[in-house]
Amino acid sequence: RQTERESLYIALNYAKTFFQDHLLKTDEGRGIGLSYFRERGFSDPTIAAFDLGYSPDSWDALLTDAQAKGYNPDVLAKAGLTVTREDSKKVFDRFRGRVMFPIHNVSGRVIAFGARILKADPKAPKYLNSPETDVYHKSQVLYGIFQAKQTIRQEDICYLTEGYTDVISLHQAGIKNVVASSGTSLTIEQIRLISRFTQNVTILYDGDAAGVKAALRGLDMVLEEGLNVSVATFPDNDDPDSYVRKVGAEAFRTYLKGNTQNFIAFKTAALLRDAGADPFKRAEVITEIVGSISRIPDPIKRQVFFQSTAQQLKVDEQTLISESNRLIRKQR
Ligand code: ATP
Ligand code: MN
Ligand code: MN
Ligand code: MN
Repeated sequence: RQTERESLYIALNYAKTFFQDHLLKTDEGRGIGLSYFRERGFSDPTIAAFDLGYSPDSWDALLTDAQAKGYNPDVLAKAGLTVTREDSKKVFDRFRGRVMFPIHNVSGRVIAFGARILKADPKAPKYLNSPETDVYHKSQVLYGIFQAKQTIRQEDICYLTEGYTDVISLHQAGIKNVVASSGTSLTIEQIRLISRFTQNVTILYDGDAAGVKAALRGLDMVLEEGLNVSVATFPDNDDPDSYVRKVGAEAFRTYLKGNTQNFIAFKTAALLRDAGADPFKRAEVITEIVGSISRIPDPIKRQVFFQSTAQQLKVDEQTLISESNRLIRKQR
């Protein structure tokens, strides 16, 4: 088992180098892939720090090269690097004509790839990712954790974004304590991974409706793990990547300082906005928020949130505490 996993790591590391070489040393890679990264403002050190690459626009460039170098085709398939066509049983490269984002585990080994299409195409997904393999369990991984972990520990805070390019652009702007959930909702394993390095998380989700929704979803779980969660939202249609490129590193940091709210306050404000003046809906908001606060394991923190949320909801603090007791009784 262990040696089988080892052979996957070796194949994935080979593929990483293959894609890097094609990005930096071939006319196709330089003309298409490297110029794409340049347009996005990625510098050479950034490209190197994240091992970015390019997969040639060919059916079997990787497969052919790997076989010539003695890699077992079964291992390439198990590593998610090739796919077998159902009808003809023909084997070909999974990643073709895309810029490549290797996904590293916490100790820096490549375990999977994210691959972005270069031009928008309604018939193809913007990002194509490795399938689940013996070494890649999507729900347990955070993109960028290897590059970010030291700074997360030093600064004692982790920024959580949605995408690969958010991590990379912020890192380049000097904000290195950033990881991405890569478009999936946060899992308990990902939260525990963060909590190895810090208890403080700030969510930097995209400034679109989906981003705000994602920020409200799944975060009660983070509270339950005892982490301190804050949320910063971006102007409509911006994500951390586009915003930091627009305003620069200094203004980005200032923006964060002025636009970060603790999660409970953020959620309360968002739900109150939706409820409007309807008293029944406002009552539902109270129950929902009390539910979130009740998940916080530390009683002192809970107490502080009952106080501040009572003000925000314009209700008596005691109302929230009794509601919390009612919820807890119901759970038993
Ligand atoms: P870009 O700036 O390159 O357009 P992004 O990171 O801003 O990319 P979003 O559309 O905000 O892209 O999506 C956030 C993340 O969700 C992506 O980084 C990627 O991990 C994942 N994702 C997006 N689209 C897809 C897709 N079609 N298939 C799989 N994952 C996707
Ligand atoms: Mn988005
Ligand atoms: Mn983006
Ligand atoms: Mn985005």
